[in-house]
Amino acid sequence: MTRMLIVGPPGAGKGTQSKKISEELGIVAISTGDIFRENIKGGTALGQEAQRYVEAGNLVPDSLTNRLVEDRLAWEDAADGFLLDGYPRNLTQVEAFDGILARLGARLDVVLELVADKEELVSRLSKRAEMEGRRDDTEDVIRHRLEVFESETAPMIAEYSTRGVLRQVDGLGAVDEVNARIMKELP
Ligand code: ADP
Repeated sequence: MTRMLIVGPPGAGKGTQSKKISEELGIVAISTGDIFRENIKGGTALGQEAQRYVEAGNLVPDSLTNRLVEDRLAWEDAADGFLLDGYPRNLTQVEAFDGILARLGARLDVVLELVADKEELVSRLSKRAEMEGRRDDTEDVIRHRLEVFESETAPMIAEYSTRGVLRQVDGLGAVDEVNARIMKELP
C-alpha cells in the first residue's frame, strides 16, 4: 500500500503520470483540479463556489479544499492507499493534510516532484489549450498559475523536502520514459 503525492508546476504532466502510477500500483488517483472541474461542469454548489477561482488561476479557498479532500479520502477506495494530485498546494494545506492523515491513522510514504523548466511548461500548456479547451489555459491565466506555483506551492514542496520524503524526477521526455524514472524512485 502506498500513500503518495504528486507535485510540480502546471503542465509538468502530473495528470498523465498519475493515471499510469495509479494503474501500476493499484491505488486510486485523486485530483483536486479534476474534482473542481467536474463540479463546475455539473453546476453543483461546490462547483459554483470554486468556479471563479479556478478560471482565474487562483487557489480555491483552503477551507473548502481541505474539507473536500478529507471527505474524499474517507471513501472506501482510498483505504488501501492513494495518490493525491494537486493537494496540498500551499503550507496551510500541508498543515490541514497532516491533521487529515492523523485522523485517518495514516502516514505519507512519498512526495514525488515532477520537475520541468518554464519554457517547456508554457509550450505544453498552450498545446493542451488547443486540444482540451480548458478555460484556465489561456496565456494570461497560465502565466498567473505559474506565479501562484512559485509563491505558494514551491514552499510547500520545500517543506516535504525538509521532512525527507521528497523524490524528484525529471519530467522532460516521452510519457513512458518519465514513468520509468518515476517507478524507480517509488518505495
Ligand atoms: P494545474 O496543475 O495545471 O494548474 P490542476 O488541475 O491541478 O491544474 O488545478 C487547476 C485549478 O484548480 C487551480 O488553478 C486551482 O484553481 C484549483 N485547485 C486545484 N487544486 C487545488 C488546491 N489544492 N487548492 C486550491 N485550489 C486548487
